[in-house]
Amino acid sequence: MARQQIKRVITDVPQQSEFSMPQIIPIRDLKNTAKISEQCRAADAPIFVTKNGYGDMVLSDMEGAAVEAALAPHGIPAHVARQIRRVVLRQGALPAWLPTVGAKRLEVVRPLIRIPRLQLVEKSVAARDDFTKYLFRAEGAEGCFEAVRIPLLHRPGDEKYVVCISSQVGCALGCVFCATGRLGFVRNLATWEMVDQVVQVGADSPHPVSGVVFMGMGEPLLNYEAVIRAARIMAEPCGLAIAGKAITISTAGIAPAIRRMAEERLPFRLVVSLTSADPAQRQELMPVTRRYPLPELLEALRFYHDRLRRRVTLAWIMLAGVNVDEPHARALGAWVAGLPVKIDLLDVNDPTGSYRPPDEAERHAFRDALRQHVPAPVARRYSGGDEIQAACGMLAGGR
Ligand code: SF4
Repeated sequence: MARQQIKRVITDVPQQSEFSMPQIIPIRDLKNTAKISEQCRAADAPIFVTKNGYGDMVLSDMEGAAVEAALAPHGIPAHVARQIRRVVLRQGALPAWLPTVGAKRLEVVRPLIRIPRLQLVEKSVAARDDFTKYLFRAEGAEGCFEAVRIPLLHRPGDEKYVVCISSQVGCALGCVFCATGRLGFVRNLATWEMVDQVVQVGADSPHPVSGVVFMGMGEPLLNYEAVIRAARIMAEPCGLAIAGKAITISTAGIAPAIRRMAEERLPFRLVVSLTSADPAQRQELMPVTRRYPLPELLEALRFYHDRLRRRVTLAWIMLAGVNVDEPHARALGAWVAGLPVKIDLLDVNDPTGSYRPPDEAERHAFRDALRQHVPAPVARRYSGGDEIQAACGMLAGGR
């Protein structure tokens, strides 16, 4: 192929792509060019390539700027690209007609894009607290994964939901109190698979989705690029328009990724699941501590706070007889000394019976000890949906 005839192609394979913009490679490096649409060839424009074929731009995998850049060579102005992206994301389809976009432009865009959707395998609703669990799968991809709709219905006239989503199928970190950890790692979810969990739960809900927490299956910061891109898309006005500070990313303590979040000055909230400030015990409960020991984690959190001036929330899974006594409160106080934090207490949910949550007396005693040793706000978080296996630590991809 003559050099001047070489068109450029953009790859959008999540694990290989750059942080926000896809990588551009020459078309000569691709084996099968037959599927590239004639329209793209004629326009001599960038074409998105996914693992599944050519010419299929997945708008829910791309940040707004990338969508604009990809559609501009096809004659689509930035504001129209944003409108199209908003509609495709929220409706899961490109309609035949849009009042503010000309029919010709829609027909230019239609063959360029692909709109993959998750398949809903099962939906379960908890009678007691209305927590709702959705089991999803993606065609041609391994494993099922879950999202949980958390109701915030206590303020009449301002009822809304938070959606807890998965970032991986399974998890490699093997925290001993977690059903997902027992599955082992299966695969990373693509950006669109995370965005579509929120879209589909929102479409099934009578009230709006006002927040997202990456606390479902998987360790989000081990799927960094795809997760952060998904969070950005959720926060964009031409995406799902969810406030950045209403998007929470939870981690078991991947120290380098916490630093990276601080360096990139991301607007999202960070929660670190700590659960023990005793190095040997934490290593037993959360084996990730071997890779990122407590001093390294603390250094990353100090860096995060220094850069962003934000309090980090530390989640503490309460395990009766294990980490809810005075010595543990004292160890936590010593560990966080000088670092502004908040503490969220959560009951363990362990269907195997190896761990049980503390009773009222133990819980009160631990709160008193925390008050004495840790100068930080302490809140008890309700982790609902246990009757449908939807509470924290119970998600197991339908198994
Ligand atoms: S608690 Fe989170 S990081 Fe730990 S095994 Fe479960 S999903 Fe993975």
